[in-house]
Amino acid sequence: MTVSTTTRTREILGRLRLEDDNPGAFDGSWIAGSGERVESVNPATGEPLAAVRMASAAEYERVAEAAVEAFRAWREWPAPRRGEVVRQLGHELRRHKEDLGALVSLEVGKVRTEGLGEVQEMIDMCDLAVGMSRQLYGKTMHSERARHRMYEQWHPLGPVGIITAFNFPVAVWAWNAAVAAVCGDSMIWKPSHETPLTALAVTRIAEQVLRANDAPPIFGLVVAGREVGQIMTADRRLPLISATGSVTMGKAVGRTVADRVGRSLLELGGNNGVVVTESADLDLALRAVLFAAFGTAGQRCTTARRLFLQRGIAAEMKERLVKAARSISIGDPMEEDVLMGPLINQRAVDDMMRALETVRGQGGEVLCGGHRLDRPGFFVEPTVVAADVQMPITCEETFAPILYVFEFDDLDEAIEAHNAVPQGLSSAIFTLNVREAERFLAATGSDCGIANVNIATSGAEIGGAFGGEKETGGGREAGSDSWKIYMRRQTCTINWGTEMPLAQGVTFEVGP
Ligand code: NAD
Repeated sequence: MTVSTTTRTREILGRLRLEDDNPGAFDGSWIAGSGERVESVNPATGEPLAAVRMASAAEYERVAEAAVEAFRAWREWPAPRRGEVVRQLGHELRRHKEDLGALVSLEVGKVRTEGLGEVQEMIDMCDLAVGMSRQLYGKTMHSERARHRMYEQWHPLGPVGIITAFNFPVAVWAWNAAVAAVCGDSMIWKPSHETPLTALAVTRIAEQVLRANDAPPIFGLVVAGREVGQIMTADRRLPLISATGSVTMGKAVGRTVADRVGRSLLELGGNNGVVVTESADLDLALRAVLFAAFGTAGQRCTTARRLFLQRGIAAEMKERLVKAARSISIGDPMEEDVLMGPLINQRAVDDMMRALETVRGQGGEVLCGGHRLDRPGFFVEPTVVAADVQMPITCEETFAPILYVFEFDDLDEAIEAHNAVPQGLSSAIFTLNVREAERFLAATGSDCGIANVNIATSGAEIGGAFGGEKETGGGREAGSDSWKIYMRRQTCTINWGTEMPLAQGVTFEVGP
């Protein structure tokens, strides 16, 4: 099959050093995979952008061996020197931001500002990680024994496996890679096979930075399907598997990693709720919910999928929501003024249509949207559904722009319904009443990893730890102290005296 020929696309691919056919594995050198040849498709047109030779188990083995070697060398680099390499990575990402952002739009269908925003998130992660490289603090503590010193220190962990989802094809890698790199780890990235080109482009940029610093090839890559992903998760050489994707994937990965008593960091599906009370600033709530529900065509883990409206404002909010949803400009994400691009593929469109059939079967009413668009690519309408919390479909994450709207009388009832789903990623309340806000943030309030007041569920900043509870997996990435999962903690006790006291007053006197 021929690849997409538009000049602009070709120029972007060319500047990112991508060709019509690309090798799908990197272990310090590029390796043409012996696996399947996959074409990356532009979801806005349905046409291929370029192809990749995927890695098979054999190429995975080469990359894994190289990652082990790279780790042995990299762990000896002082952390601030590792940070300097990550600083340069951030610099190169700044230089390539336009092209890389455009490639995210081309390959995933994100509108331009979101494509650029995703690259900015990588840059921000690099900046954050550079700072961390001088702050990988351990604690010292007082020993109960005289002339003893105790402290905890953090060492590099080992090669880390990073599995990423299609919808944040590069940011999620940076959440992990920038931090893992300053922590002294090497890594193997297995991106989604839906989005191999962005992964290749990023790895090519990272390769240049490594070469310029004479650094070991810590940023390994295997573009591969689920089978190689399974080999990777079972690989005892990788003490940590960080996996981002669906709950189904996370359960499988979690089981495999647990079976070898490894460490897993799981960032899985969400089913995020927004509560709007009668005291809310409705203009603010409306604007925020529109982006959270329909931005990225509903394909964020933090997308708002459930909206709880207090009875007194429900009719007005629904009317305004439907009117605004109908006005959202849908189209080619590379074009100015387009707010909503396509879904990732035909399967995603079919899944959405199937979910809406179930919605109707369970008594939900589609207030607006609900159709695919009759044009090339995988476009659908933003959809608002009047629903009841008893409808089982509302407990599932359908990865599409469907917003379920519920009504409630008092906040306790709304919080109970809000928490009654298996997922626990992001949540929000819109209110100007401080008691309602604090009730939502209290221990008896939202059960999610992220809880916001007067901003919606999506668009998290990297400064705070990101992740969710329950079936979302419990993992935390990005800010705060999440670096600790990429390191191993060691407690050290040093006796600098001449006595040999035992802890807890135990005695063990032998001989004369
Ligand atoms: P997916 O689960 O289909 O695939 C994610 C990745 O896992 C891909 O690289 C895939 O090849 C790999 N994979 C699948 N099964 C595997 C297995 N058994 N062993 C090893 N690897 C396996 O998800 P997707 O469709 O690419 O992404 C959408 C999903 O990701 C949504 O559920 C979304 O909520 C979630 N997501 C979560 C976060 C978060 O931070 N919580 C962020 C982005 C996306």
